[in-house]
Amino acid sequence: MKYIRELGRILFVAGLLIIFGVFTRPDNSAPVFSTPPVSELPAEINIHPAAQPGIPRSVRVPVLMYHHIGEMPSNPDRYRRDLTVSTADFEAEVKFLYAAGYSCISTQALYQYQQGEVDLAKKPCVIIFDDGFDDAFKNAIPTLLKYRMTGSFAVITQYVANSEYASWPTILGAQTVGMEIVSHSQHHIDFTSRKYSHQDKINEIQGSLKDIQAHLHTAPITFVYPYGHHDLETEAIVAGSGFKMAFTTAPGFYGENKNAYEMPRVRVHGVEGIDRFAESLGITLHK
Ligand SMILES: [Zn+2]
Repeated sequence: MKYIRELGRILFVAGLLIIFGVFTRPDNSAPVFSTPPVSELPAEINIHPAAQPGIPRSVRVPVLMYHHIGEMPSNPDRYRRDLTVSTADFEAEVKFLYAAGYSCISTQALYQYQQGEVDLAKKPCVIIFDDGFDDAFKNAIPTLLKYRMTGSFAVITQYVANSEYASWPTILGAQTVGMEIVSHSQHHIDFTSRKYSHQDKINEIQGSLKDIQAHLHTAPITFVYPYGHHDLETEAIVAGSGFKMAFTTAPGFYGENKNAYEMPRVRVHGVEGIDRFAESLGITLHK
């Protein structure tokens, strides 16, 4: 009898521990931006020895393009409306990706995967936030951490801390929790404009690299063309500066274009709804 009572007590305590454990898992809480550190989360990406080291894979990966994440300002024009995805919609979209078997990784991890250096546990996707808006850092990162995904933030290095743009401490904080910071130039110039000399373009691209290295002590491998505008001259400077890939705003999946410096993306529109989001990934939702 005493033994049974003792066993009951043990089971009760074990039950409490299980319940507590379940409800404190990162999946069920909304971590704030600075916590939990990504190093404490189990890695989503399984890094196995590559099956065929040194043999590049043929890949077709959705690279989603976002701008603002958060509240719509009052009286937005149609551009701003299209560029703003609410925090709730963003979370629904990430949740959808998760349920569809995707996990978003950095462009660095994508590159390693494509090179055959790593294997991945789930279907890869990439999320790039263009321009480095403060709201994207503040509102997207908690969701990304919750689903153990990585986002890539394309910052305009000389706009950092101006009005709507994130500050270097915010950007560094994002990097610290596992987000990737990539380059979107120094001043968001149109590289196809005749206003700029060859040297201006070199300064703009390499300057952004130096700015990121000075503040974050890392060298990004990815460049995002302002306005999506690019030409062969710009591509050559980007490649010659050490970047491994560059993104346009042309629609399509990464890998569909064989030129690593002309990679297309999937644009996510504000207020587009989950059906249209799914459709942009090639998934039709049946009602
Ligand atoms: Zn931009």
